Amino acid sequence: MDTVWVFGDQLNVQIGALATVRPGFTRVLMIESASKLTAAPWHVQRAHILITSMRRFASEATALGFEVDYRQAATFAEGLADHRAEFRPSRIVATEPNSHRARSLALNEGVVLVRSNQFLCHYDDFATWARSRKHLRLEDFYRRQRVRLDYLMDNDGPEGGRWNFDEENRQPPPRRGPYPWPSALTEPLDALDHDVIASLPPNCTGSPPTGLWATSRAAALRRLDHFIDHALPLFGPHEDAMTTDHFHLAHSMLSPYLNNGLLLAREVADRAEAAYRAGAVPLASAEGFIRQLIGWREYVWGLYWLEGPSYASMNELAATRPLPLAFTGAAETRMACVKACLDGIEERAWLHHIQRLMVLGNLSLLAGIHPQEVTSWMWERFVDGAEWVMVPNVIGMSLYADGGRMATKPYAAGGAYLSKMSTYCKSCSFDHRKRVGEDACPLTTLYWDFILRHADRFEGNHRMVRQVRAAERLSDRSAVQLRATAVLALLDEGRL
Ligand SMILES: Cc1cc2nc3c(=O)[nH]c(=O)nc-3n(C[C@H](O)[C@H](O)[C@H](O)COP(=O)(O)OP(=O)(O)OC[C@H]3O[C@@H](n4cnc5c(N)ncnc54)[C@H](O)[C@@H]3O)c2cc1C
Repeated sequence: MDTVWVFGDQLNVQIGALATVRPGFTRVLMIESASKLTAAPWHVQRAHILITSMRRFASEATALGFEVDYRQAATFAEGLADHRAEFRPSRIVATEPNSHRARSLALNEGVVLVRSNQFLCHYDDFATWARSRKHLRLEDFYRRQRVRLDYLMDNDGPEGGRWNFDEENRQPPPRRGPYPWPSALTEPLDALDHDVIASLPPNCTGSPPTGLWATSRAAALRRLDHFIDHALPLFGPHEDAMTTDHFHLAHSMLSPYLNNGLLLAREVADRAEAAYRAGAVPLASAEGFIRQLIGWREYVWGLYWLEGPSYASMNELAATRPLPLAFTGAAETRMACVKACLDGIEERAWLHHIQRLMVLGNLSLLAGIHPQEVTSWMWERFVDGAEWVMVPNVIGMSLYADGGRMATKPYAAGGAYLSKMSTYCKSCSFDHRKRVGEDACPLTTLYWDFILRHADRFEGNHRMVRQVRAAERLSDRSAVQLRATAVLALLDEGRL
């Protein structure tokens, strides 16, 4: 009998190898690797969702008639060897894994790989598309995906005559409440949840699970219903806004389930389009969401495979500063924006995109934090952390550590951006308008210093040259650079 080895991020009977076999004729293997679980100080909610979702999936596969060998082993290789020794399968088959490391492991262990259908654009097809282009641009890829997959199309053109509604989707938070966004769906924890939580390694970090994150397909589908009915109609306009009073706005919070297989991108995008066609959701909202899902998500996936394993270690800006002590909980921060984001990670292991990019990523970029330290830290802390999505987003989009292969210019911003797009600055002891002085916003100071530090490089970038000229014209340029040195020292000492 063949065995299908199901990885913890392929938890769906419609994915790859499992989709092609029938219960009764195939055994399913799942391995919990102790070395993986103890390898890093995972956020407890991240470790919980991983293990609990795997165990529930094993029960569901059993209920469907599959014989499931669920193993707890020291390593994946050991689990595989034990399975082979006990069951002597004719072949071990797996869906193409979702990371370079897992793919190498499977191939080295003689596992037969079946083409994955977990993403809407297979990485081989992405590579073929990429090779046909002079420059890679998300917008081109996205339009191709819209046409190819037939989302929001009106004959040959885009529904509503426009491919994107980005301009409408950059609004700051509303001036005052009550905010229109729904509450997140939570469900009580059960005995399995409590068992798993009790068994997690002691070096896990963060607040324990509260029932916010789903760990079964049925519960993930309930999160999807909740999003489509209550948040999708509001998705878009305030996509980039950040407030202290509402943590997710109209964001879907579906990334963990898309990443571990409990939900499939196709079914989520279908639901968004159907809601628009039924008149329940404005076009700008449906388009904004579908763009993230069939555009950004798939683009990042394709880039991860296109760039290969060495991409993760790129450090083009030669950033060497260690992680701020506040990131690891060894110090408190006085920056309200950073504190709000670190509190969000502690509480629920999740932040929305702009908090990741324009607060924590931005500070790391401006301060020159080592890219691989940032990647590892975010990977450990986010409930949706996965190498394929973390690496391009951190190395490419956020830290410009790939020298501009993914983003045409660095996502760098001073306090003025934070003040416009968030409510954080209202309660901050720093002044976002100031770039020098003890109460100057560290982001504002570091922004100008960053541009000056890398002026030679950015001068050659037509999207950055204006900022370089503005930085060079600053009347208090020396004072800014002096203050930046002090700010970086405070950051290193955990006193910022
Ligand atoms: C520094 C940094 C680190 C990130 N780390 C991760 C990570 O570990 N795991 C992860 O899934 N996403 C990551 N992202 C991308 C994005 O921030 C999250 O996917 C998103 O915030 C998840 O929340 P959501 O489901 O509510 O997204 P929504 O705003 O509701 O968007 C819908 C879906 O679109 C997809 N999506 C949107 N933007 C991106 C993007 N840039 N890359 C890939 N997919 C995207 C996600 O699947 C998301 O669920 C990171 C972004 C940055 C800047």
